[in-house]
Amino acid sequence: MMRSPSTKCRLASVVAGMMLACSAIAVQAQEARNVILFLGDAGGVPTLSAGGIMAHDRPQSLFIHSMPNMGLSDTSALNNWVTDSGAGMTAIMTGQKTNGSMISVLPSGADGAVTPVKTFLEYAEEKGLSTGIVTNMKIWDATPAACYAHVASRKNQDEIFKQMLAPRFGDGVDILIGKGRSDAIASFAKRQTTAEQAFAQASYMFGDDPAIVRGAKRAAVLRDSDFAPIPAVEATIAQLARNPKGYFLMVEWDMHTDNLANGLKHVVEMDDMIRRVSAVAGKDTLILFTADHSFGLRMGGGKRSTPLAEQYATEAAKPGATLANNPIISVEDGHTGEEVITTASGPGSEKVRGFFANTKLFDIMMAAVGWTKDK
Ligand SMILES: [Zn+2]
Repeated sequence: MMRSPSTKCRLASVVAGMMLACSAIAVQAQEARNVILFLGDAGGVPTLSAGGIMAHDRPQSLFIHSMPNMGLSDTSALNNWVTDSGAGMTAIMTGQKTNGSMISVLPSGADGAVTPVKTFLEYAEEKGLSTGIVTNMKIWDATPAACYAHVASRKNQDEIFKQMLAPRFGDGVDILIGKGRSDAIASFAKRQTTAEQAFAQASYMFGDDPAIVRGAKRAAVLRDSDFAPIPAVEATIAQLARNPKGYFLMVEWDMHTDNLANGLKHVVEMDDMIRRVSAVAGKDTLILFTADHSFGLRMGGGKRSTPLAEQYATEAAKPGATLANNPIISVEDGHTGEEVITTASGPGSEKVRGFFANTKLFDIMMAAVGWTKDK
C-alpha cells in the first residue's frame, strides 16, 4: 500500500519549490557584467527597413528585429530638434542633452563656457572595467569622441586626440579601432611627437591591423581604409572579456545613406555583427542597438516580384536620376528628427520599451550594471 507523504515531506517539497522559484527570479534579476552598445550612425527606421529588404527581399529580416526588447528613442538635442552625432551621442553616454556639436559637455555660461559630464565609459574605467571602441568612422569623430573626450566643438580634433591619451578616469579606452590614421599623425606632429610615440607612451600597441588586438592588453588600431567588422569586434571582445570585472564596448557603424549602397551595406554588416556577438556573449551582457539620429531616406516603391536592388538600379540608370528623385528609394541628404529604434537583450534590457528620451539609454546602462550616478 502507498503511504501518502507526511506533512513534513509535503512542506519540504513546497519550500524546495519556492527556493527554485526564488533562484529563478534571482537569475533573471542578475546584474549585467558587460555592456555592448551598437550605434548605427544615422540608422533610422527607414534605413534599417530598406537595408534589410535590399539584402534579403523579405521584411523584418534583420537580427535586430528578433531582439526581445525594443522601444523608440527621441533624439532631439538641447537646442535643436534635429541633432548631430555630438549631442546625440552625448545624451546616450552621459544622460544629459546638450547643444549640437558639443561632445560630452554642457553649456554653462553666456560666454561659451562648458562643463564636462562624466560618460558611461568613464564610469566603467573608474570602476576598473576594460573598455573598447570600434568604429568604421574616424576615431576622433563625434560619436566615439563623446565616449572619452569633453570639448565644446566636435571639430577640435587636436584636443580630442590629446584627451584620448589623457583620460580623466582609469587609464582610458583600452582598445581603439577606427579610421583617421593620417589625422592622428598630423595632430601629434603639431605637438612635436609622432602618433607611434604618443600611443606607445600611453602603453598602447599601435598599428593598422585589427589582428594586433589579440593578446594586446591595450591597442590602438588606426587606419585610413575600411576593415572587416566581425573579426575586429570578436578580437576586441575576446581581449576585453579577460577582465573579470567586465567590460564596456561601443561599436559604431556608419549608416549615413548620402552614399546609398555603402549606408545600406553597413546596416547589414552591423546586423551580422550583432547576431554574431549575441551568440557568443555571455548571459551577463547587456546588448543594445540604437541610432543617434535618423536620416532623410524613404522607400517610395518597389514590387515584391523583382529584387529591390535591381529595381533601384534600373531607376538610378535613367537620365536625370538623382539620389533624391529615385522612386524606389529616395534620399534627402540630411539628418531627420523622428524617433529611432532601440533594441536590446540581456540583463536590464527589459527597460527598453515604449517611447523614451535618448538620455534614458545612459540610465538603462547604469542600472543594468548596478551603478549610481555621481551627485
Ligand atoms: Zn550621427
